[in-house]
Amino acid sequence: MAHSAPPQTEQPGTEGLLSVAQARERVLQRIQPLSPIALPLQETYGCTLAEDMFAEGDLPPFSSSAMDGFAIRSADVADAGSGGLELRVVGRALIGHRPEGTVGNGEAMRIATGAPIPAGADAIVPIEQVVADEDRVRVMEPVPAGRHIRPVGEDVKEGSVLVRAGRRIGAPEMGLLASAGHSQVLTNPRPRVIVLSTGDELVEPGREPRYGQIPDSNAYTLFGALREAGAVPYLAGIVRDDVDQLRDTIFNHLVQADAFISSGGVSMGDRDVVKAAFFRRGDLDFFRVAMQPGMPQAFGLIEGKPYWGLPGNPVSVFASFEVFIRPSLMKMMNRRELFRPEITAKLTADVTGPRGKTQFARVLVRRTPEGRVAEPTGGSGSNLISTIARANGLAIVPPGVETLHAGADCRVMLFRSPE
Ligand code: AMP
Ligand code: MG
Repeated sequence: MAHSAPPQTEQPGTEGLLSVAQARERVLQRIQPLSPIALPLQETYGCTLAEDMFAEGDLPPFSSSAMDGFAIRSADVADAGSGGLELRVVGRALIGHRPEGTVGNGEAMRIATGAPIPAGADAIVPIEQVVADEDRVRVMEPVPAGRHIRPVGEDVKEGSVLVRAGRRIGAPEMGLLASAGHSQVLTNPRPRVIVLSTGDELVEPGREPRYGQIPDSNAYTLFGALREAGAVPYLAGIVRDDVDQLRDTIFNHLVQADAFISSGGVSMGDRDVVKAAFFRRGDLDFFRVAMQPGMPQAFGLIEGKPYWGLPGNPVSVFASFEVFIRPSLMKMMNRRELFRPEITAKLTADVTGPRGKTQFARVLVRRTPEGRVAEPTGGSGSNLISTIARANGLAIVPPGVETLHAGADCRVMLFRSPE
């Protein structure tokens, strides 16, 4: 394979190619959100809430002390002068229990943060602000009613919406749902995605490759990309360029799959196994996209489950995932925002792409005092996987533009945060 073939020399005709936007639309329009399921709260992180969640009671559910100190009657200390005013300590309001006694005139009760307010008391004096012994407490100045008391329903009122349907469940939502006592939540689940790697040349990473063999890297790229997207990857291993083995592997995994991704075997060669297995049957649609990398693509539904047949080159796999699969997974998870953020950055060097195609060039975006800059991380060859590992974005060279020059502003799809 040429180390870094100048893209202009591989100018296949662009007739019959779909634009990136057309191809993405063709895929997305056939993707449906997964049916909601009830999940235990701790499994919902990152999922989309499928129904409005209501507060079945007030939050907080009872009024409690916000400080360690003494529960008192504010009227008793209204005249606390320079020497302070003494109250009789009548016991302790226990945390986690209904208060036993009440606080009468001239009385105070010890109380801990979070303990329910005993009847009669209407304010808390913090321990730091009093002089106390076993049965007497001296309050040094007047205290307004309600001081350091957390009222019932201050946070959320009974019957109001806690979290709206469509919201992505993160740390604050999990905490809020838990404080309202919800242990099960109806969510759009994470898609379980079966990953297959096709190719007679592939060996599992860690196995000694014979001459001409290479480790299967695509499965691991996809594993990471799926995890990052919030999906659940399942690596089904290497499938030889053998139609029966491919079909068997797919159908054996149908019950536990929400979707499939294979890499390799979708181009024109007579050994292209995905094409051989599914082209004539019409299960998958084989199309060419005006993009580099990632021109040949296959997509369709197998028994109603999305199947992406990606080209085998490692960079094509990564770019295809970003352009087609990630937005589809977001749609399956019923997320509002399907696409990666795009930013503008100044190129530090020329990037060149084939005229008539969208070029996704790997760049490292950095923040500088002069603004964001995008530095190309290497050649444009679709096999150069280290160029992705050094990058955090895909710079988009649009169709019709052959070269974006150093210093020019460029759109970049960020796939991780800038450095
Ligand atoms: P294909 O699309 O099957 O013609 O493969 C295109 C190129 O990608 C070939 O050089 C393959 O060896 C390589 N390739 C295919 N599958 C993988 C894989 N799982 N991991 C790494 N390289 C691969
Ligand atoms: Mg192959």
